Amino acid sequence: MTVSLIDFRSDTVTRPTPAMLDAMFQARVGDDVYEEDPTVRALEEATAARFGLEAGLFCPSGTMTNQIAIKAHTEPLSEVICEQTSHIYLWEVGGIAFHSGASVALLPGNRGRVTAAQVEAAIRPVNVHYPTTSLISLENTHNRGGGSCYSLEEIASIAEVARRYQIPLHLDGARIFNALVATGQSALEYGRYFDTISVCLSKGLGAPVGSVLLGSRAFIQKCKRIRKVMGGGMRQAGFLAAAGLYALENNVERLADDHRRARQLAEALEAQAYVAEVLLVETNLVIFRLQDTMPAETFLARLQEQGILASSFGPQMIRFVTHLDIDDSMLEKTLTALHALAQ
Ligand SMILES: *Cc1c(COP(=O)(O)O)cnc(C)c1O
Repeated sequence: MTVSLIDFRSDTVTRPTPAMLDAMFQARVGDDVYEEDPTVRALEEATAARFGLEAGLFCPSGTMTNQIAIKAHTEPLSEVICEQTSHIYLWEVGGIAFHSGASVALLPGNRGRVTAAQVEAAIRPVNVHYPTTSLISLENTHNRGGGSCYSLEEIASIAEVARRYQIPLHLDGARIFNALVATGQSALEYGRYFDTISVCLSKGLGAPVGSVLLGSRAFIQKCKRIRKVMGGGMRQAGFLAAAGLYALENNVERLADDHRRARQLAEALEAQAYVAEVLLVETNLVIFRLQDTMPAETFLARLQEQGILASSFGPQMIRFVTHLDIDDSMLEKTLTALHALAQ
């Protein structure tokens, strides 16, 4: 008998469902580098409309949408303000230096979130010694911060600082739909506060590939050239865009189920003597620290024996991510395995 894996390593591991595959097979396509793919255009327009921004750009990954936005907003000798564990700094291979030749001003966040006062204090005075502050970038939900969410008040006050200093504001919204579902915030508010937003379709929304960068029409036109030089101009990409459209239409509200299962996991973990601390769970990420008596490798290996996968997330730190391919019976099996580990 083959045991199916219960894979909590990331929400990127989901496979397209038969209904999503069907939508992909039905897609009308053309050459998108010639701007002739109707399905890519539909995805870009539908995503932009949700956030009240003018235009969108379909790209292979969230790393590419973020790095294109940073490249288009900045120039060499300038600086990006971001949180010190943000994805754009920590997990995009140093791309800010590589693609943009820009510096970073790193802020220590509260579970990844920074304040307007911290941002304002990091803006450089204009003189010959300093890089010029060219971009402020936020991440919501914050990955390293355990899926934490900003309130709209926090975002509004950071946006006020950005406007006052005339510095563009970018959002790494790889998991923005998790934030919207968890908080009940409106996507249109985000379009009012941010100049550009990067949205991932391949995380909780369950599409196999793809991210969309949103912004003004003129900005996205500039970004199209940068996507091309990065090798991200795709041809009959409508087959992939169709999965994204299907995901936007069918897989947003259900994120609430992932959030409920993440809270159930966190409650079970908090009850275990071998767990030292569980970060507050707001969305679909569960990050916790093991007691020293339970080495992380032992914990992961014993779960793996039962077909359950999670990731190591720093010394004695573990991350579980709930997603479309984790159902209640898999969750029950995992809760039983977590209790059994105490024996
Ligand atoms: C996953 C992720 C991205 C983009 O990742 P890709 O694997 O390049 O699509 C960007 N930002 C955050 C916060 C992420 O979690």
